[in-house]
Amino acid sequence: KATMRLEKLLAHAGHGTRSEIKRRIKGGAVIVNDRPVKDGAMQVDPVKDHIVIDGEVVRYREFIYLMLNKPQGVISATEDVRERTVQDLLDDHYRLFDPFPVGRLDKDTEGLLLLTNDGKLAHNLLSPRKHVPKTYYAEVHGTVSAEDGQAFAKGVTLDDGYVTMPAALNILKAGDPVLGEVSKIELTIMEGKFHQVKRMFQSVGKRVVYLKRITMGPLLLDEHLAPGEYRELTGGELEQLR
Ligand code: URA
Repeated sequence: KATMRLEKLLAHAGHGTRSEIKRRIKGGAVIVNDRPVKDGAMQVDPVKDHIVIDGEVVRYREFIYLMLNKPQGVISATEDVRERTVQDLLDDHYRLFDPFPVGRLDKDTEGLLLLTNDGKLAHNLLSPRKHVPKTYYAEVHGTVSAEDGQAFAKGVTLDDGYVTMPAALNILKAGDPVLGEVSKIELTIMEGKFHQVKRMFQSVGKRVVYLKRITMGPLLLDEHLAPGEYRELTGGELEQLR
């Protein structure tokens, strides 16, 4: 849609809450195409109209791109209203853009989740034909071995009969369960079947006890983000994604 309400545009552009914006418009702070405007419901064209608030030119943007370090206990789907969703973690200002998660992480999985309202970019990242690599860090009950790596490199058969595409296993530490140790690994997969990492380990008789996504395509999880924290993508990150 080409036009939108003036007050909505100002809220999107980060100029305050809806009620603050209404008050500022009433107070004469806003000028549209060199004319003072008092009606927040006025339809404006965010690209073509020249809008100024308290002397500051309003810069509109349609899309938002957020990198979230998803915490455990939060779901990355939008349907289930009873559970806390990743959108609930966002400030109101960002929620105005209606961002959605690009792909899913399980409720108990942490780590890199991109949220955007750019459907085209999301579609490209999720397209099975693009084989976007995703790297996970996992802690696994059982001694992860080089044989597991060979099996994953060839492809393993999941519980529903699906044979996985080649995946790369990097063993950081092979744990000894007798000593109460877990194995620490990184696994890079090029697809994203339901519970894929957990089910791949299940297929070799081992159990994932902690899972965190650390990369998706060119994006690396920002290590400054604590679980539950997020930030906008940098210009450079966005360029790499496109
Ligand atoms: N694989 C899983 O098993 N769970 C996730 O959340 C992501 C990948």
